[in-house]
Amino acid sequence: MSDAPPKPSEIGDEANAPPVDEKPYKIIFEANKCIGAGRCAEVADNWTMSIDTGLAQPGSYYIGEDELDENVEAAEVCPAKKGRGVIHVIDRRTDEEIAPDPNGDGTLSVDW
Ligand code: SF4
Repeated sequence: MSDAPPKPSEIGDEANAPPVDEKPYKIIFEANKCIGAGRCAEVADNWTMSIDTGLAQPGSYYIGEDELDENVEAAEVCPAKKGRGVIHVIDRRTDEEIAPDPNGDGTLSVDW
């Protein structure tokens, strides 16, 4: 098994994704590590809490410039994984994580 982080472009249903120039960003969500703290839903319309599971859920996984700031904020306030966060905002053009980017190098900070 390699220690290299997974490439964001290899995660999700890219075949059915909207064009990059329409939705330049995508969300990768580690739902199994969400602790249901609800901070994301407080700061971003794209995030709601599921009554069934008690966990967060995004309204859309592919987002445009107009939705970027609130999703970046959700990624940064998420306290899960000891503050490293479980909401990942990816720039599809560079295939890099732009938030929360705890490693500071754009690599995908998932614990899979
Ligand atoms: S802020 Fe993070 S841990 Fe809290 S509900 Fe949202 S995704 Fe889950």
